Amino acid sequence: MSGEKITIGNVEIISLSDGVLAFDLCNFFPDIPKQDWEPYQHHLSPEHGVSFNLACFLVRSGGHTIAVDTGLGPRPADAPETPWGGLLDDFKANGIKPEDVDMVVMTHLHRDHVGWNLQEKDGKFVPTFPNAKYYFSAADWEASHDPALQPDRFTNAPECVWPLEELGLMELMEGEFSITDELTTLPTPGHTPGHMSIMISSQGERGLILGDVLHNTVQVHETDWVSRADIDPETTRSTRRSLMERLEREGLTVAAVHLPAPGFGKIVRLEGRRYWQAL
Ligand SMILES: [Zn+2]
Repeated sequence: MSGEKITIGNVEIISLSDGVLAFDLCNFFPDIPKQDWEPYQHHLSPEHGVSFNLACFLVRSGGHTIAVDTGLGPRPADAPETPWGGLLDDFKANGIKPEDVDMVVMTHLHRDHVGWNLQEKDGKFVPTFPNAKYYFSAADWEASHDPALQPDRFTNAPECVWPLEELGLMELMEGEFSITDELTTLPTPGHTPGHMSIMISSQGERGLILGDVLHNTVQVHETDWVSRADIDPETTRSTRRSLMERLEREGLTVAAVHLPAPGFGKIVRLEGRRYWQAL
């Protein structure tokens, strides 16, 4: 299901993937008792776990080719069977070259969103997307240097993010940052301090690249269910509550990085309950 495409006005979004991970529930949602999942089995994988796509959304806007999030990165040499690491193959399968990308935008700096930024060659860090500048939030840049957070929360930042500064490829974003005339960041903090979604507005149509505001479709309704990956649970909840309300009210098209591929859908209400409706 990779390579699927939607358009929002003049903006084109292609869903690519670095792979699919599987987590068991107690691991990923340690605070949600197993019985609370009983009415929601259809939100789980056949193995009753959380299935987790690693999307990279390739966005064409205003003459730019933008990669939003870059997956977990190359397979480790000693673990060639890992279920991730397929992003560049997926680029190729869809006729897209890393050279085509002139902006890499990260919704946040967790390891599963920055993995393909750089590759190590002959002891040096080389950008995977040689013609791109790399954009991410100043607050996450700061958080990725916080000794209380970095070792657990931004594990691969020293290899995948920090070298971007010295390479002169880093662009920091704050608040509502204009990426192109059609794309603007929308701060959605909680999951990380500087987490950002990306609002798309073109030709009277609107959409949102969500980032990690959702990890499972159940959270569209159970907005207070936080996962172990959410750094600040209370802020995560309030961000998610207000964003789900807004997405439902405004009927925006959503691109969600970790929901089942291709990750395009809408938030709808049926009989008093909110649902994810895949496109
Ligand atoms: Zn993530």
